[in-house]
Amino acid sequence: MTSMRFKALEAVQSRPKERLNTDTYIASEHYCKYVFTLKTMRKYLAKDTFKAVQHAISTGEKIGRDIADDVSTAMKTWAMEHGATHYTHWFQPLTGSTAEKHDSFFELRDGEALEVFPGSALVQQEPDASSFPSGGIRSTFEARGYTAWDPSSPAFIIKLQSGLTLCIPTIFISYTGEALDYKAPLLKAIHLLEKVAVKVCRHFDGNVNKAAATLGIEQEYFLIDEALYQARPDLVLANRTLIGRGPAKGQQLEDHYFGTIPERVHSFMVQLEREAIELGIPLRTRHNEVAPSQFECAPQFEEVNTAVDHNQLLMDIMDKIASHHKLKVLLHEKPFAGVNGSGKHCNWSIGTDNGINLLSPGTTPEQNLLFLTFFINTIKAVHRFAPLLRASIASASNDHRLGANEAPPAIISIFIGSRLTHALNQLIEASSSEHPDANKKLEIPNIPEIAFDFTDRNRTSPFAFTGNKFEFRAVGSSANTASSMIALNTAVADQLLAFDRELCAELEKGVEKDQAAMQILKRYILESRDILFEGNNYSEEWAVEAAKRGLGNLPTSPESLDAFISQENIDLFKRNNILTERELIARHEIRLEMYSKQIQIESRILSEMVLSQVVPAAMEYLNDMLITYNQLMDCGLEDQATESKKFVEMISNHINEARKLVMLMIEERKVANKMLDTREVAMHYCHNVKPHFDTIRYHVDKLELYVDDRLWPLPKYRELLFVK
Ligand code: ADP
Ligand code: MG
Repeated sequence: MTSMRFKALEAVQSRPKERLNTDTYIASEHYCKYVFTLKTMRKYLAKDTFKAVQHAISTGEKIGRDIADDVSTAMKTWAMEHGATHYTHWFQPLTGSTAEKHDSFFELRDGEALEVFPGSALVQQEPDASSFPSGGIRSTFEARGYTAWDPSSPAFIIKLQSGLTLCIPTIFISYTGEALDYKAPLLKAIHLLEKVAVKVCRHFDGNVNKAAATLGIEQEYFLIDEALYQARPDLVLANRTLIGRGPAKGQQLEDHYFGTIPERVHSFMVQLEREAIELGIPLRTRHNEVAPSQFECAPQFEEVNTAVDHNQLLMDIMDKIASHHKLKVLLHEKPFAGVNGSGKHCNWSIGTDNGINLLSPGTTPEQNLLFLTFFINTIKAVHRFAPLLRASIASASNDHRLGANEAPPAIISIFIGSRLTHALNQLIEASSSEHPDANKKLEIPNIPEIAFDFTDRNRTSPFAFTGNKFEFRAVGSSANTASSMIALNTAVADQLLAFDRELCAELEKGVEKDQAAMQILKRYILESRDILFEGNNYSEEWAVEAAKRGLGNLPTSPESLDAFISQENIDLFKRNNILTERELIARHEIRLEMYSKQIQIESRILSEMVLSQVVPAAMEYLNDMLITYNQLMDCGLEDQATESKKFVEMISNHINEARKLVMLMIEERKVANKMLDTREVAMHYCHNVKPHFDTIRYHVDKLELYVDDRLWPLPKYRELLFVK
């Protein structure tokens, strides 16, 4: 029997070589070709209408129905000129992926065939929403949910071989107005942060009128051959390998990172970049990552809302383009045990309309006061809301990565580098050793420009300052970044509001402004310095030290998700009008359900693979061995037969153990499935079902080593990771 594994290996060997691509290609000429940008809109709309739309977008005001009619007509004309036949509202339900439902422009009106796209269809739609998670907000008998146009995110066209579709970014809300998606609270959080940032800036710089939170997302991923992927049920259904022995050669030679990009992968990357550019995603960077077959791409940073949309869109098109190259993109955080996992580094900062990056240390004391204000308030926010940030990145898949020996740990801490640590220490000492006269302008330590020689990079930190931005590294590679951005932007906004209140109170008392700001900031450093850590985040000493400092360390999701419904965080979201208690409870519920479902699926596939693929292959080999044993005995080769018998025993033991453990795991699953409380179910999956994965795997991976390679049904790690 030729197993799927061998057919897949043959398919891989016979893939045609990439042809040399010598086309001239100028990216800037293709940028936003398939995006309905403001510039494009201007061409298709009357001057007044365009101005009204532009005004509404920049102020966040609602767009009237008559204007919506003009915009939808313009969009339809533009989209049809590009060949689009359908339109869809594009939204981000709490599953973490994107959703769409296509409608044709084509319509029969009084028997006449027309292409129409009314403003009402642009502004609002009612998808059959009952199959999206709502966490009890929308019971199935009242399954209505609405998608509503988000004019701040431009419409775009998605190209599939089979046709083109106009996509309209929308938010997704329930009949009763509660958010059922990531976008609605994200927009609120960003809006709040930007408003508060301007207010705080204006204490120090009267020229600031607008601020924008910025985000640059580095996306790590694995790329493997499609045929090999198809031969692994675990990859197909759980996006990760549940069994598999590590290859003889792993990443210990460290020869993959920044190494030459394989031709087939390069060809995928080029096509990805071109399509991304057409969709307005400014992809700029590509390179190999640490693990074999692991890569990274990164766009130039954009405003948070756009960056989040673009990353969601990027993940969609990566998948599509990979299939053109008979490749499969694995966005899972840990597709292969013992090999580095993938993250999604979220580089975050705030910029102003007069060109200041608020997290960039300046050269003058005045600039530095602005920098220190935003820098220290961010540190304080992360310290205050660390459990929330931890919860925001929690998922069954990211659990494999956080705390593993190559990824940031589940303990949230901040790395700022030795120079800034020194500067903060100086700041505390300087102002506490003197008794400055309240009205005297304080000397602010001049932090040298550090953006260009930020040498002491620390790759182990979950949240690192990297010269002119913070980098939230603990975010998982498959995650919708909106979740972490809702948490971070809300936390920092809330903290800046507190700072602003304190500062205003001091100013009322007549304290000199810089003096007052420095005193508050100094206290903030003292209150939150426990979150700062410069050492090796992977070390055991850090876990001990972090516990002494009272920092949370929750390596598994079900517990960490509790932060969504802690009183402190309910209050945070409520007072800032980002999410209601009901919405938070729903989100908590949904994340727990998704966790349990993920582990349940993995457990089912694992059982199936062990019982129907691994055990039969091992039994077949066992039979061969027994024949050999008997033949050796017949020939009177007793010593050799005894050796063979030992081997038979060993294999037979592993088969029995694996099978026994699978049965135990199935029993635990049954217990979980009888439970009613969502959290209890998730806890049971986490602590009673999941632990079996490793023990089962131990025996299966031993069998992989012993069993005749010709009989082994599943592509091995060396084939998945090294076959080019
Ligand atoms: P690294 O050195 O971590 O590999 P880069 O310097 O290339 O990374 O930057 C990584 C990401 O950070 C890019 O997407 C980049 O655009 C983004 N970035 C740079 N400056 C900012 C900023 N001010 N705000 C948000 N993201 C930024
Ligand atoms: Mg980086």
